[in-house]
Amino acid sequence: MLTPLGDARARVLHHCHRLPVVVVPLDEALGCVTADAVTSAELVPPFANTAMDGFAVRAADTAGATDAAPVRLGVVGTIAAGTAGDLPVGPGQAARIMTGAPLPPGADAVVMVELTTTEDDVVLVRAEVAPGNHVRRAGDDLRPGDPVVAAGTELTPGHLGVLAGIGRLEVAVVRRARVGVMSTGDELVEGPVELRPGQIRDSNRRALVALLHEAGCEPVDLGIVPDDPARIAAAIEAGVASCDALVTSGGVSMGDFDHVKVVLDQLGEMTWMQVAIKPAKPLAFGTVRGVPVFGLPGNPVSSMVSFELFARPGLRRMMGHETSGRLVVDAVADEGLHRHPDGKVHFVRALAAWGDDGRFHVRSAGAQGSHQLSAMAAANALAVVPDGSGVAPGGTVEAILLGTGV
Ligand code: AMP
Ligand code: MG
Repeated sequence: MLTPLGDARARVLHHCHRLPVVVVPLDEALGCVTADAVTSAELVPPFANTAMDGFAVRAADTAGATDAAPVRLGVVGTIAAGTAGDLPVGPGQAARIMTGAPLPPGADAVVMVELTTTEDDVVLVRAEVAPGNHVRRAGDDLRPGDPVVAAGTELTPGHLGVLAGIGRLEVAVVRRARVGVMSTGDELVEGPVELRPGQIRDSNRRALVALLHEAGCEPVDLGIVPDDPARIAAAIEAGVASCDALVTSGGVSMGDFDHVKVVLDQLGEMTWMQVAIKPAKPLAFGTVRGVPVFGLPGNPVSSMVSFELFARPGLRRMMGHETSGRLVVDAVADEGLHRHPDGKVHFVRALAAWGDDGRFHVRSAGAQGSHQLSAMAAANALAVVPDGSGVAPGGTVEAILLGTGV
């Protein structure tokens, strides 16, 4: 019996609980979800200042000024950004002023330098300006009590800037999930060592660590564990003792040495599912001492697709996000995405691009075997091909956009 994707995901999400709130420096908060609403306690900008380099003037003094008939004003001095700007401007006077400098007492407008000519201590103003011209009023961005960031906001670089702009250097957010990653399999070795017969190199762990980083988690590399139930049990026990979640790959299929699902069942609550998807059909999801464990399949493409469909939404939920954070779009299939009916939804590693016709377009990123990581590496999307005989050229298909390279 195959479990529909939606049911499998719901089962996973049910066990993914929100992590505690921590206060972190802004530099560590990108992508985190705020725990509280933040309001401004002050005016931003804190004082009226000039948006242009030029001359602070009394607008009334510029009445009738033109290129042909400039107004002459006496220059009282220069006001730089960072100074108090305490240089009163009386009738018939102007102060040279630099962007960001406080508007001096008496002045109510700024004439940009391009509309002026200077002769010794006199400035010739060649245009009439209205009161407030190029003046940024105090508080015209934020005023005391204004909301800055709502609770539950995923922090972007802009949010971090605005928080710094009201003097906040720390922010309360839902903690990042610390997630242990282990590969299982007697055949696995790491790095450029010479392969003995039957050995392959571990690719899953590096990809999964990167996927965790991308999802905003803090990965913990737990290494390669052999196909030995005792060793797997010990590794999972140690992992749940120090992590908020675990991601394993391999050992969840029907083989004689697929011990991960057996061990998970012994150590905790485990649901082993044959999900109605291709790739990534087997999934062993469990909790050990309340810690979610994602037992992903071993085939490299399957482990990444399974991460995308189950671990990413689950871990993001733990970190306070309400969505997987991926954009799902309707796209034109530029080539046929053929398949046979098998009761499963197929996730085709695809290249998506925005077309001149104002629509996304997708085509296959290459060979689609679940061991063929090259097409996964090339892909920037997963095309979601429902059960049936596929999508004809020019047909519409849903695409999950992976990351930002679209
Ligand atoms: P399993 O799910 O353990 O039956 O593994 C399925 C396939 O994925 C086998 O061909 C494994 O050799 C391969 N595999 C398992 N783990 C990894 C890994 N970490 N890196 C690359 N291939 C793997
Ligand atoms: Mg294996």
